[in-house]
Amino acid sequence: MPELPEVETTRLGLAPHLAGRRLERMIVRNPRLRWPIPDDLPVRLTTRSLVGITRRGKYLLFDFDGTTQIVHLGMSGSLRLTTQDEPPGAHDHVDWVFDDGTTMRLRDPRRFGAVLCTDTPADHPLLAHLGPEPLADAFDAAYLYAQCRRRASAIKPVIMDAQVVVGVGNIYASESLFHAGIRPTLAARRLSRPACERLAAAIKRVLSAAIAAGGSSLRDYVASDGELGYFQLQTRVYDRAGLPCKTCGTPIRRIVQGQRATFYCPVCQR
Ligand SMILES: [Zn+2]
Repeated sequence: MPELPEVETTRLGLAPHLAGRRLERMIVRNPRLRWPIPDDLPVRLTTRSLVGITRRGKYLLFDFDGTTQIVHLGMSGSLRLTTQDEPPGAHDHVDWVFDDGTTMRLRDPRRFGAVLCTDTPADHPLLAHLGPEPLADAFDAAYLYAQCRRRASAIKPVIMDAQVVVGVGNIYASESLFHAGIRPTLAARRLSRPACERLAAAIKRVLSAAIAAGGSSLRDYVASDGELGYFQLQTRVYDRAGLPCKTCGTPIRRIVQGQRATFYCPVCQR
């Protein structure tokens, strides 16, 4: 599943090629994504210029000069740049053709992604209730501590809750908790202020490292077969059940929390 670092890398890869371009044509081959692509969306966007692309959580926001297109990549979506000479594949559901012939193409085999449109993005139901960006100054130890005090559930689902902070997916939650030395099952309200400081810093560090890793793949991004793959993360605990902890050698444990796999070191994380 594309996580925040992959979405941010997608944004960084697309923006320099598309910003300032006028949309000539939008080709919707299959509108049946997580929600149907609105029938009037191509009409609303065609002939408009793309001012820029921003990101909120895992949503990409395409600013078409007053109208914002919202794109979510769902479980398996990817956006890449190509031309109309390249025939679409079976899962290439949408093309955006710009005035220089550049084509942005959405591939989404599982069709859990979304392409929507709004004139008031701040009030859109998908965006209005999102918590702060993890890399923004608003997400700090004091904020996290205040959020944790109000919650009896385990800390891992709390940092994965988009109303608390956006974009901390399953891999990054496990990794951040390892780096902060916090047991994923610990009740959120039992986290100390220093623990919240370590955790907020770890989340920022882990996500920044993943975005930096993505940045190194940007060169390949516009290749004709340019699939945006998953970044090669040097994980400390995620997907390492039974393997020795890289810090203390204790076998990494796997448990399930809220139907999601959690990995942790029983010695390093308390
Ligand atoms: Zn350990």
